[in-house]
Amino acid sequence: MKQIVIISGKGGTGKTSLSAALATMGEPLTVADCDVDAANLHLLLQPSDQSRQSFSTGAKAVIDQQLCTQCGACMDACRFDAIRYQDDRYTISETSCDGCRLCMRICPPDAISMVERNGSYWASGTFRNGWMVHARLAPGEENSGKLVNVVREQSRLLSEERGMETILIDGPPGTGCPAISAMSGVDLALLITEPSHSGFHDLKRVKQLTDGFGIPSVVVINKYDLNEQVSNEIGAWCRSEHLPLIGRIPFEPAVVEAMLQCRTVVEWAPRSVAAREIAAIHRQIFKS
Ligand code: SF4
Ligand code: SF4
Repeated sequence: MKQIVIISGKGGTGKTSLSAALATMGEPLTVADCDVDAANLHLLLQPSDQSRQSFSTGAKAVIDQQLCTQCGACMDACRFDAIRYQDDRYTISETSCDGCRLCMRICPPDAISMVERNGSYWASGTFRNGWMVHARLAPGEENSGKLVNVVREQSRLLSEERGMETILIDGPPGTGCPAISAMSGVDLALLITEPSHSGFHDLKRVKQLTDGFGIPSVVVINKYDLNEQVSNEIGAWCRSEHLPLIGRIPFEPAVVEAMLQCRTVVEWAPRSVAAREIAAIHRQIFKS
């Protein structure tokens, strides 16, 4: 089974548009949307979910106001500054609570309990060119690396079950734990960047990461014609790093028009230059 991840050093580089376009071309495959903090690949691929499971991000502390004697011990003890005294009562911020349980253990009248947070989920189903696993992390929740692992594992199991030979992964932006979870053990990383100095800087950081894991990488510059000078600098750097630059996608209104129609540019405007460039990228990454 071949696994290909599409990653970028930052958001807004066109990573999801390219993932969606590649997913709708060629042989049926499995798509794994690992950008769980800002999942939007499903908007373009519109999967028909066949199963959905909640994902617990851990327990958070809550205070039973009927039992609380307002001693203040919990607020003094909390190292995460999650407890506030406001409007004549103690309350705990869900987003700041780390779930360490210290306040629960020290509360004299046992007024604090831990409640599981189940607002996050993962789902799997079909889309118009195969199978898809996607997920959503509830706002303010952490543990996205763990949820990325769940999406990867479910994609693998689904592919084995359904005889899919390729998994295409839309990875999270950045170089943190979720990005590492998305790229571990893949056969190829497609690094997408934009022609700006910050995009170039982030590309170098992602390349260090893929090198560290020994993952073969290729580069695509999106909207390369918005700044041809920086695009040329990226091209020269790729040559010096022996990093194949396999595509330069131009800026085209057809890409935006396609997204507004919840389609990919290869479906909406197959004769556009962007669509033809993406078709060439597809041929290169799926050639073996
Ligand atoms: S430690 Fe318990 S009783 Fe004291 S303020 Fe906190 S919740 Fe209330
Ligand atoms: S569980 Fe830990 S982090 Fe959460 S409010 Fe209690 S002491 Fe603070």
